[in-house]
Amino acid sequence: MRILKIDHLGVAVNSIDKGKNFWSDILGLDFEGDETVEAQKVKTAFFPVGESEVELLESTAPDGPIAKFIEKKGEGIQHIAFRVENIEEALAELKQKGVRLIDETPRIGAGGAKIAFLHPKATSGVLVELCER
Ligand code: ZN
Repeated sequence: MRILKIDHLGVAVNSIDKGKNFWSDILGLDFEGDETVEAQKVKTAFFPVGESEVELLESTAPDGPIAKFIEKKGEGIQHIAFRVENIEEALAELKQKGVRLIDETPRIGAGGAKIAFLHPKATSGVLVELCER
C-alpha cells in the first residue's frame, strides 16, 4: 500500500454557509462550491490548502453520520483522509493485516473519488478515510 499524501481533513459543521465565513472569508482559502452526496446524507465543500484540502461536512438529515457525530462530540475534525495509489489494493492489504474496516469495498464520494473508511476502533480513535482520485 502506498499513501501519497494527506488528501484532506474532514471537519463536521452545523452549517457550511457559516463555516465558509471562517475558512474562506477570514482565512482566504478558495471556496470551490458545495456538493451533496445523498447516499451519505451529507453536503460537502472543499477548500484547497496547498497540496491538501479542508473538507467541511454538513448533515442533510438528522440521522446522518455527521449529525450523529456532532450530537456526540460537537463540531470539529471528523476524519483524516489519505490519498492512496490503489484503494482496492490498500483495503485488501489492511484486511489481511486484520484491520477492522467500515467499508470493505470502496464507495463513491464527493468529486467522484473512490473512498473507504477504516474503523476508529482500529486506529486509536481516528476515523481514517482512504481515497483514490
Ligand atoms: Zn472526506
